[in-house]
Amino acid sequence: MHEDIWQAVLGEIELTVSRGSFVTWFKNTQLLRQKDNVFVVGVPNVFIKQQLERKYNDMITELLAKNGVNPERVEYKIHSGPAPERKTDDDPVILQNGPSNNPQPVLNQRPTTVLTHSYRQGLNERYTFDTFVVGAGNELAYAACGAIAQNPGKKYNPLFLYGGVGIGKTHLIQAVGNAVLANNPAAVVVYASTEQFVQEFVDALRFRKTTDFAKHYRSADVLIVDDMQFIAGKEKMQEEFFHTFNALHQANKQIIISSDKPPSDIPTLEDRLRSRFAWGMTIDMQNPDFETRCAIIQTKAHNHDVVLTPPVVEFLANLVQTNIRELEGAMNQLLAFCEMRSLTPDLQIATSLLGGARTRPKHISAKQIIERTAKYFSVPMEDILGPKRDKDIVVPRQIAMYILRSELHLSFPKIARELGRKDHTTAIHSVEKIEKESSFDSDIKAAIIEIKERLYA
Ligand code: ADP
Ligand code: MG
Repeated sequence: MHEDIWQAVLGEIELTVSRGSFVTWFKNTQLLRQKDNVFVVGVPNVFIKQQLERKYNDMITELLAKNGVNPERVEYKIHSGPAPERKTDDDPVILQNGPSNNPQPVLNQRPTTVLTHSYRQGLNERYTFDTFVVGAGNELAYAACGAIAQNPGKKYNPLFLYGGVGIGKTHLIQAVGNAVLANNPAAVVVYASTEQFVQEFVDALRFRKTTDFAKHYRSADVLIVDDMQFIAGKEKMQEEFFHTFNALHQANKQIIISSDKPPSDIPTLEDRLRSRFAWGMTIDMQNPDFETRCAIIQTKAHNHDVVLTPPVVEFLANLVQTNIRELEGAMNQLLAFCEMRSLTPDLQIATSLLGGARTRPKHISAKQIIERTAKYFSVPMEDILGPKRDKDIVVPRQIAMYILRSELHLSFPKIARELGRKDHTTAIHSVEKIEKESSFDSDIKAAIIEIKERLYA
């Protein structure tokens, strides 16, 4: 099962670092063994070993922990065995082939500075319809995505899928891309997160490659853009996306968009885009209900060749109620703990490892969150609410915004107001920034956990 975890970690790294970095540093790595609390990763040469040790070790450790593995240390060993079968497509520009039709060269350690485009196709083959558990809350989205995969561009165009964090939006929309390619390896599927789309556009402007950029996105048979909420406040981007949208839609190409909220709630979204999004189908993905959560746990445990007893499954399903990523994380933590000690997972181990259900009182106020954050960082509340721009004030302010968002689900304009800011794009930017940094920066992560613990204590 640990090779699976390593593959999962690689999957996340792939979505995080640039395509070039991924191919150069990570692609030919594999898990060699996990023993005595040491996680040993095999790497092809000493340069990669050094780079992983120096630059990426923290990120790798964090991602392992996120997947439930907390070794004392991670070691990188030069290993000349065959590269693992990681069936990612290697085309740096556009994904044109079904991943499995394209066996990888075993040795490919040429540094990829030759990449002329920075476009990453970003489809993760782990995300397929087969591995998606259908239940109340996601069945409509699943059905629509399935129909689109059969007949891209014909029905539901665009598809706009929205819902909370970790409920399977990315999984489903990538499943469409993977299925389209499986049916038709010649199809051009382009997947991008909105942030990536924005970044590539900015780069294209800078390097005067806007025609390449436009060509790339407009060549798609299926264009999938994830997390559209991040386009809020970015006027130039909205304009560019509008043109891309029109070009594709006119040519009957499929467009799929995800977001954490409906178009009507994305602040500063241009009306013309909002009305375009309403042309096709808008689907609200709901939180998974208890039965669906149980089914997801059973399926995922089964993938690890583990059978969990009903009390353990129910315990996990009660422990994490909305975010399936967290649900999976909790289960992985339990499985890894038991595997390392050769134990069979049971309710007692689950309870002592993962604690009781996190029943949280719901009456936390915005003010309490800001106060707690100020206290944690020992900075005066007035400074957080005031105009100061020093780093030791700005970071706590951004973290407060992030917690307001994640705990109270406040709108960005409201978050801005709570912090005495006029411009809500600052709030959007702050939340995005902390969201990103908290996955790699252990200080920030620790701060958030600690502040939340105290809030709910
Ligand atoms: P979102 O994009 O909505 O934030 P993701 O698609 O990234 O969420 O899902 C988070 C994790 O939960 C992924 O690992 C995904 O595979 C898993 N997941 C979500 N929904 C399901 C489901 N219905 N069945 C199986 N796995 C799921
Ligand atoms: Mg997502």
